[in-house]
Amino acid sequence: MSSHIARTVWVLGDQLNRNLAHLRTARPSQTRVLFIISLDKLRRAPWHQQRLHFILTAMRRLANELTDEGFSVDWRVAETMRQGVSAHLEEFSPEYISVMQPMNRAGQRLIDSLSATMPITVTPSDQFLCSREEFAEWASANTRKDGSLLMEDFYRWQRRRLDILIDPDGEPVGGRWNYDDENRLSPPKGEHEWPAINRRELDDVDAWVTDFLASVDGLSMKGEPPDGLWATDHDGAMQQLQYFLRHAIDEFGPYEDAIVSDEPYLNHSLLSPYLNIGLLHPAEVIAAVKELSDDIALNSIEGFIRQIIGWREYVHGLYWWFGPDYVNENHFNDDAPVPPSFTGAHTEMNCVAHVAKWVEQDAWTHHIPRLMVLANLATLAGIDPSKMMRWMWASFIDGAEWVMAPNVIGMGMYADGGRMSTKPYVSGGNYISKMTDFCGDCSFDRKARTGDKACPFTTLYWDFLDRNRDVLRSNHRMARVYANLDRLSDIEEVRERAVEVRGRLIAGTI
Ligand SMILES: Cc1cc2nc3c(=O)[nH]c(=O)nc-3n(C[C@H](O)[C@H](O)[C@H](O)COP(=O)(O)OP(=O)(O)OC[C@H]3O[C@@H](n4cnc5c(N)ncnc54)[C@H](O)[C@@H]3O)c2cc1C
Ligand code: SF4
Repeated sequence: MSSHIARTVWVLGDQLNRNLAHLRTARPSQTRVLFIISLDKLRRAPWHQQRLHFILTAMRRLANELTDEGFSVDWRVAETMRQGVSAHLEEFSPEYISVMQPMNRAGQRLIDSLSATMPITVTPSDQFLCSREEFAEWASANTRKDGSLLMEDFYRWQRRRLDILIDPDGEPVGGRWNYDDENRLSPPKGEHEWPAINRRELDDVDAWVTDFLASVDGLSMKGEPPDGLWATDHDGAMQQLQYFLRHAIDEFGPYEDAIVSDEPYLNHSLLSPYLNIGLLHPAEVIAAVKELSDDIALNSIEGFIRQIIGWREYVHGLYWWFGPDYVNENHFNDDAPVPPSFTGAHTEMNCVAHVAKWVEQDAWTHHIPRLMVLANLATLAGIDPSKMMRWMWASFIDGAEWVMAPNVIGMGMYADGGRMSTKPYVSGGNYISKMTDFCGDCSFDRKARTGDKACPFTTLYWDFLDRNRDVLRSNHRMARVYANLDRLSDIEEVRERAVEVRGRLIAGTI
């Protein structure tokens, strides 16, 4: 009987939700569901094993849920996606395969090329609150005279149109759009109680996926194995959302930019992996926030929804708006490889050692270690932005091209020459010391820019400004730092030390 089902819904690995457009109205009597595991994709990069485990386990659980609901599920392991689709067509002969608009360009290209010869129809995606088409309309109407877009404009537009914490007169609840003066504090001094972290028991589905990955020839994985930090179904993702809203969000705002060396998670939500593969929809997050909004400090609520309806949706919109060449931008013509210290080689830099350990342990760090430590050092040291992006993509559980490209190429490394940010996000050891507790225990001296004990960030910061004088000096937001650079009397020694630091960074001996 199942062979007469006319329609197949092909569920991609980042569309894992029964309530998204592709599956919402599907009924077992009319629809077969296809999942394809592409071995080629598994072998394409040295993925963090928790990342592969997370995605495959979440796929498998959704496949099991759909089977329990009565769907005929085709779980297909194939060399490539194309081969998987062909084999499915051959075995089941559906009239057509329906797939939801992919989130990334590679997926889009694949679907375009498959649909030239196969019966494939594309359903518009509803995975974001602002679709790429709506973003394009907003961006066309809101580009400033100098060609720039502002996240703040987008965020206010989203708040108003989605009616999130907006008074009847259209103004923000509390009278302010932004609570930066109450948020983004340095880490608290002395003892502080941070929210506990929940870990789930791994079960037979986890074991099944672990065995499957172990059976794939030619797979190279890195990082520590799964330890239950990440949920792999909608219920687990919802539990983490509720836990965050009840136990962590209150101090999210104040400490969102802080780093504490023995506490990787602080008050962060740990929701990005779920949002990015569909286990959680941003509308579910906003609905839950609204429900508890009377009990949560306004500065923290504002800081959090700014991330969900502001930054996340803005980054997604920019990825499509900036066009396909954006991922190759390399404003400073950098070509150095990703340093071994990022991938676990021993380093004396206390900040890098901690952040690399967190990535190894969880395939995740919060925003500021990614920005202030990894992307900052990559920019200062002249690492090739596309290599940096590929490394982060393979190493982080929440990685995807749509979110990595603007964050790494734009926000993190200024490789787009300022299309996303008005100036490079670079800093030396002094700023890192202000927002973290790393420097006190480091063998380098954050204040020194020359000599054996000079902090690599500090040396490279001044050298970066010096090296890129022609490109950056005319940026009025850099005027003060260039005035400071001009006052340095030891710039020759800084240049010499920078050559040594860059060499040792790439060789993995610093
Ligand atoms: C160099 C660099 C690389 C990054 N790579 C990724 C990535 O591959 N995947 C990813 O999801 N995020 C990425 N980010 C953004 C951000 O660091 C993570 O979303 C966040 O750390 C995830 O942890 P969390 O869920 O606890 O976030 P929280 O701090 O609790 O924030 C809440 C949510 O806001 C969203 N968010 C906040 N900032 C951003 C942003 N800049 N871009 C997109 N979403 C945002 C996320 O969905 C996040 O879950 C990157 C940032 C930088 C600077
Ligand atoms: S002194 Fe420099 S290298 Fe050491 S922890 Fe601070 S910023 Fe990092």
